[in-house]
Amino acid sequence: MKYFNPEIETLPFDKLRKLQNERLQKLVAYLYERVPFYKKRWEEAGVRPADIKSVQDLPKLPFTRKPHLRENYPFDLFAIPVKDTIRLHASSGTTGKPTVVGYSRKDIDTFSEVVARSLVASGCQPGMKLQNAYGYGLFTGGLGMHYGGELLGMTVIPVSGGMTERQLLLLQDFRPEVICCTPSYAQRLSEELAARGISPESLHVHTAILGAEPWTEGIRTQVEAGMGVRAVNIYGLSEIIGPGVSNEDYEERGTGSYIWEDHFFPEVVDKDTGEPLPEGAYGVLVFTTLTKEAMPLMRYWTNDITNIYYEHSHKRTHIKMGPIRGRSDDMLIIRGVNLFPTQVEDVIQDFDQLLPSYQLIVSRDGAMDRLAVKVEVKEGVLRAMGRPNLEQQTAVLPDALRNLHGALVKKIKERIGLTMAISLVEPGSIPRSEGGKLNRVLDLRKSKKE
Ligand code: ADP
Repeated sequence: MKYFNPEIETLPFDKLRKLQNERLQKLVAYLYERVPFYKKRWEEAGVRPADIKSVQDLPKLPFTRKPHLRENYPFDLFAIPVKDTIRLHASSGTTGKPTVVGYSRKDIDTFSEVVARSLVASGCQPGMKLQNAYGYGLFTGGLGMHYGGELLGMTVIPVSGGMTERQLLLLQDFRPEVICCTPSYAQRLSEELAARGISPESLHVHTAILGAEPWTEGIRTQVEAGMGVRAVNIYGLSEIIGPGVSNEDYEERGTGSYIWEDHFFPEVVDKDTGEPLPEGAYGVLVFTTLTKEAMPLMRYWTNDITNIYYEHSHKRTHIKMGPIRGRSDDMLIIRGVNLFPTQVEDVIQDFDQLLPSYQLIVSRDGAMDRLAVKVEVKEGVLRAMGRPNLEQQTAVLPDALRNLHGALVKKIKERIGLTMAISLVEPGSIPRSEGGKLNRVLDLRKSKKE
């Protein structure tokens, strides 16, 4: 099976636009009638439903942002009675109080379909086993992948996140072809396999579907080698539906993830002005859910920074998005320079001797913000150097290590424009994922304030 829904996934562009425009017009009328929040905001903005005829009219409408979801907590943005929903989920609350989302039966069907499309794009087929290591519960990851896997006809193994011993046992004994989890947890699993001397070739798994947090090519390389898989990106957020808003195709890895835009219409806008940006430019990703019934969202400001573009020569007609650089609220501003942790990750991958395991430590020294970075050196590299003690001062470290340190400082300065206090540390000394998302920033400024 090349596509889960061949007709829609390869729908010619003009037909796709027509479908989106029809769906958008219906959505606008539906929300205006059913959700007082939208009626009030559109009236304040002086827009009538009849003014929105196509997706090109979207910029006339105001954005919906996370605080609006919190102000309407828990159910005031629902467009159907709560009794008509069949499931509630909530965001994992990474950045504050969780936000609630509800699903009608049709919404759950849509969710399952977009996950099934994503699974096929990842290289899954009916009959394969899917070890689902995303957390089950209020988080949309576990149940979302579960239902999509079942719809496709996979054999789903609902392990949930964490429980590393059990994950490894099932990988060996149940012999799944596919695993899904966060990229940081896949790093952890790769390392645990190596630590136990389990060779990736002895496993049956060939595909890892990774998402729920930003990751870069360095992690892809580590996980692909460490687990013997093709690592494919899945993106989503609970407010829009959950995982499966977009997905990479396994044969087009590294060229972006297809957004299932018949259901989720994307825009990229300037993070400061909210103005639409041209195709390919980086900005904040904004989604309008075109088909949801229980809690549709109009122009939802995801806070995620990326770009979107069409690749007309590729397998599907839907638009692609690049990797998420980070959330705009994860952006650090150090001495006036904007920085996402993934930018440091990007530089690290240029060094064969380093692992994509790192931590950014931000502190305040008077009025000045300071940034320190810890990066792990590969075990083999340290062994080759006679295991120097990395706690010692740089001056007494072997030349090779001092040169590596100097080269990293220089490259970070060149690429990011900041001089950072970098320390090279032993492999395994930086916290690992316990099964879910891993926070790679330790912000000492925040803990002081709290
Ligand atoms: P929370 O916002 O509480 O973490 P979610 O579990 O809904 O709640 O997480 C959605 C967010 O996770 C997205 O907005 C995005 O920031 C991040 N995310 C999800 N998938 C990816 C991915 N493939 N790459 C980068 N970031 C991702």
